[in-house]
Amino acid sequence: MYSCEIISVGTELLLGDILDTNQRYLSQEAAALGIAVLKRTTVGDNIERLSREINSALKNNDLVLLTGGLGPTADDITKEACCACMGFELKRDEKILRKIEDYFKNKGVVMPPTNAKQADVPFGEGANVFDNTCGTAPGAAIEKDGKCVVFMPGPPREMQAMFEKSVRPFLIKKYSDGVILSHSVRTVGIGESAMAERVADLLDSKNPTVAPYAKEGEALLRVTARAESREDAERLMAPVLNEIFKRLGDKIYDVDSSGLQETVVKLLKQKNLKVAFAESCTAGYLSKRLTDVPGASEVFECGIVSYSNRIKMKVLGVKKETLERYGAVSAQCAGEMAAGVRRISGADICVSVTGVAGPGNDGDIPSGVSYIGVCTDDGVFTERFETKKDSAREYNRYVTSSRALDLIRKQICKNSSNSV
Ligand code: AMP
Ligand code: MG
Repeated sequence: MYSCEIISVGTELLLGDILDTNQRYLSQEAAALGIAVLKRTTVGDNIERLSREINSALKNNDLVLLTGGLGPTADDITKEACCACMGFELKRDEKILRKIEDYFKNKGVVMPPTNAKQADVPFGEGANVFDNTCGTAPGAAIEKDGKCVVFMPGPPREMQAMFEKSVRPFLIKKYSDGVILSHSVRTVGIGESAMAERVADLLDSKNPTVAPYAKEGEALLRVTARAESREDAERLMAPVLNEIFKRLGDKIYDVDSSGLQETVVKLLKQKNLKVAFAESCTAGYLSKRLTDVPGASEVFECGIVSYSNRIKMKVLGVKKETLERYGAVSAQCAGEMAAGVRRISGADICVSVTGVAGPGNDGDIPSGVSYIGVCTDDGVFTERFETKKDSAREYNRYVTSSRALDLIRKQICKNSSNSV
């Protein structure tokens, strides 16, 4: 199996000004090609330190992937460092220079003279120059003595385009032996440790591996197999996945979903159902998450943010006596809010949220407590939900909206066996 080190270059990364998303992208892509990532490094814009890191990475790996530091200014030194370490020279490529000039011309500006430097590329046997379809800095893979250094531009959009169009095909041809494939089994309503306990024996499995992860208010199991082909990897994973489905049952909301909202929209579409929300403490969070999913308009009728008691009464028809007797954070109020938004929208599943987002308690109601109401053809039911003690406001609102989404999922799957 081939191995690689990923190096991102840029002082701004070391200062924490920018989140290094390129490392994550390249790690995932390398894994998908069956290339083991043994180390990830970040180096500032300093040619000595970068050269040292490239040399050490080359000693320990077949392949080094770099991003960043291909700009036109003097502090952009990645290309120079890579070529020096690999014993390659840079040469001005007139065709690339004209392309860069055209790039600026199309934007209606004159090319700053410093940009000409970006047309200097490694040349000779073992040099493969990659076109930048989204910007000016070309990338390259330079090979010598069984080792290879690939450098790509820093802006993620440019790097990803170059990776997809040029670098991935190059790596597939030369460095990919087999595939590593993963499936994420996503659960909600069960903690990471409780989930891990139920599948404890599976966590020792070697191929596929099974690894638990905690996400905000959720837990997931990542099942990963290494094999010669995708089909073989799927075959290895199938029995393990089936065992996980058996043990975790309806705590599993989906496999390979990007989140509860995606799963809920998918299920609503499948059943041709619509939802509507009346939100107090989440104040639109639930609506926001649902509408993060493309195509949500097919299933989403409306979301009413009814923060004040006046609007709860005036718009949703919550009774004054209910608020006086039980308060706004109560099962009774949640039920009337859900019924109210159902009257307004006519949607199949109407959900309300009223609670204490925190920090601090609201009278004798602790922060993180909420009531969720669900109104459907079957009538209204409510649930008291409580997040972890002393959680932050953002966490409380997020996890409460997750619980509301999960109640919708359960409502949809209630009468059908094909949950997910
Ligand atoms: P550079 O090619 O080093 O001049 O980087 C240009 C810009 O690309 C930086 O200012 C960042 O906005 C972005 N960038 C560079 N490296 C990364 C990275 N590793 N992850 C995310 N963005 C990056
Ligand atoms: Mg830079």
